[in-house]
Amino acid sequence: MKNISTKLPNVATTIFTVMSKMANEFQAINLSQGFPNFETDKKLTNLVTTAMQKGYNQYAPMPGLLSLRDVIAQKTNSLYGSNYHPETEVTVTSGATQAIFTIISAFINPEDEVIIFKPAYDSYEPSIELFGGTVIPIQLSAPNFTIDWKEVADKITSKTKMVIINTPHNPSGTVLSKNDMLQLEALLKGTDIILLSDEVYEHIIFDNKEHQSVARFPHLRERSFITASFGKTFHTTGWKMGYCIAPKDLMEEFRKVHQFNVFCSNHPIQYALAEYLKTPSNYKELPNFYQHKRDLFLSLIKESRFTFTPAAGTYFQLLNYESITLENDVKFAERLTKEYKIASIPVSVFNLNQQDDKVLRFCFAKTDDTLKRAAEILCKI
Ligand code: PMP
Ligand code: GLN
Repeated sequence: MKNISTKLPNVATTIFTVMSKMANEFQAINLSQGFPNFETDKKLTNLVTTAMQKGYNQYAPMPGLLSLRDVIAQKTNSLYGSNYHPETEVTVTSGATQAIFTIISAFINPEDEVIIFKPAYDSYEPSIELFGGTVIPIQLSAPNFTIDWKEVADKITSKTKMVIINTPHNPSGTVLSKNDMLQLEALLKGTDIILLSDEVYEHIIFDNKEHQSVARFPHLRERSFITASFGKTFHTTGWKMGYCIAPKDLMEEFRKVHQFNVFCSNHPIQYALAEYLKTPSNYKELPNFYQHKRDLFLSLIKESRFTFTPAAGTYFQLLNYESITLENDVKFAERLTKEYKIASIPVSVFNLNQQDDKVLRFCFAKTDDTLKRAAEILCKI
């Protein structure tokens, strides 16, 4: 073929693939791509094996196994005091990425504007552009990444179709407050703007903070999709399982696309998750589990030349390296991988115009031993 016209001229291979590949090639400790390097609970893998042996090996119902949708609805209600109907308002997806892509594809038309906050998870923008939407980026500033809601109000036009938020936030590790959500609610009330609230790290939040799910705010809830990921919650990123919840009228549109996008998600895993979710401690223990890892990592690097604000949520920690070098963050991340054998993610790739704030993102979803070895290296830089 001589002339392939690309739909995504500005898209290269995602940074997560680039850095994990480099980490493997140079045998570096991989704190770049976000995934745990420890196993999930044996009870969960045993449940999957049982489901396969019992014969749950054919297609699941298109919107997901009802028993799983039931426990998802119960969990949402008990945590956030919000009722979603399991039959019409919950859909199981092949990871949150699929849910996000399907939501965008179901609603975004050419010329529609979508407001996103940068640094942003890298799947949002290309998904919007594929459907002809226009990305309206709002750059947030390190170290607090707070949203100026007046700036958001200024960016809303008659073309604004969707706003995408993400709390707890990847890559910054910050969380939105109740006040943030109330301000957003006041802005969107009375409009037809859809809110996509990416809440994949809902259970990874520290220092006794409460996750401010959109589900808690009636005037946000009525216009929102919430996306969630079992990969993050149960240390199973490779299973690519997640779900989304939304009011019935929005979910109907979602399912029109979902049925032709994936039809359904992995059946035996849904069966296992439905059982496993019946024990709330399986996700309620997550904040303590990851706070221990965050605190261990930060205590071990406190004498290093990196500076930081402790992550409030997610399993990512940003480290500022200005007192070490002023080189570009992509170059520095490459050098750390090749020379020091530690891989991270340069945050500029998620920023507007690749703004370089001299910060790298490190994933602390690792065994204590890995974190100790990583910290030893970081302290020598
Ligand atoms: N959103 C954010 C902010 C993420 O960090 C991730 C992690 N990859 C996802 C969505 C996608 O989750 P999943 O692996 O379930 O597709
Ligand atoms: N969410 C993970 C991260 O931010 C990785 C996702 C991916 O590899 N696509 O590192």
